[in-house]
Amino acid sequence: MKSHQNKAETGVELVEKVLLLGDISVGKTSIITRFTEGAFYENIANTIGVEYHRKTINLKGKGIEMEIWDTSGQERYQSIAKSFYRGCMGIIIVFDVTSEKSFGNVKSWIEHLNCDADSEVVKILVGNKSDLKDEFSSVDKTEIAELTKECNLVYFETSAKTGENIKDAFEFIALQIYEKLTDFEPRDRRVSLASSKKSPKKREEGEKSDSCCN
Ligand code: GDP
Ligand code: MG
Repeated sequence: MKSHQNKAETGVELVEKVLLLGDISVGKTSIITRFTEGAFYENIANTIGVEYHRKTINLKGKGIEMEIWDTSGQERYQSIAKSFYRGCMGIIIVFDVTSEKSFGNVKSWIEHLNCDADSEVVKILVGNKSDLKDEFSSVDKTEIAELTKECNLVYFETSAKTGENIKDAFEFIALQIYEKLTDFEPRDRRVSLASSKKSPKKREEGEKSDSCCN
């Protein structure tokens, strides 16, 4: 949002920066395209570097502008620049429900981002390509449940192709971020989560688990 614009002009109360991470071809770009354009492409171009998209949503009567950052999936092998995470409020970790390999890599994505991203960032797990589950063998439900429990993540099974759960996943993370920010900083909602690090409530949450995922 341009600095000279205010809430009255734009209707936007909060800008939320959200990042998608996950292996190549799990459908990160397709998920964003489905959400922002309502479209799906079988032959979508590979993401090169990092791109971002914007979509304004209405959440409980509040205008939220989501700034959604897409990544290529190659970043796991080379640390993402810390500056990239600056101001990042939410992270969606994506795997392909028909790819054991992409699911197996989820943990290393989490470990990777735990080193670089702010610990207060809201994270969710998305298993994409649910429309292919009847056609191909899919990742075991119990394994997904174990991982989400261990890493304290909310899980959404989506299909960028049919649109299943895409809006729900984005609205969920948007609401989580909104609540987190308004909880910490009721007077200034446009503040980075980084400034909320010292909250006693969140420190307790962090103490709940000593697993690598927290
Ligand atoms: P990214 O590398 O993670 O950004 O993945 P893409 O969005 O480029 O998608 C990789 C391939 O998977 C493309 O051919 C997409 O059309 C396909 N794809 C993405 N999401 C889905 C989905 O939900 N269902 C199906 N059947 N194919 C998908
Ligand atoms: Mg992509």
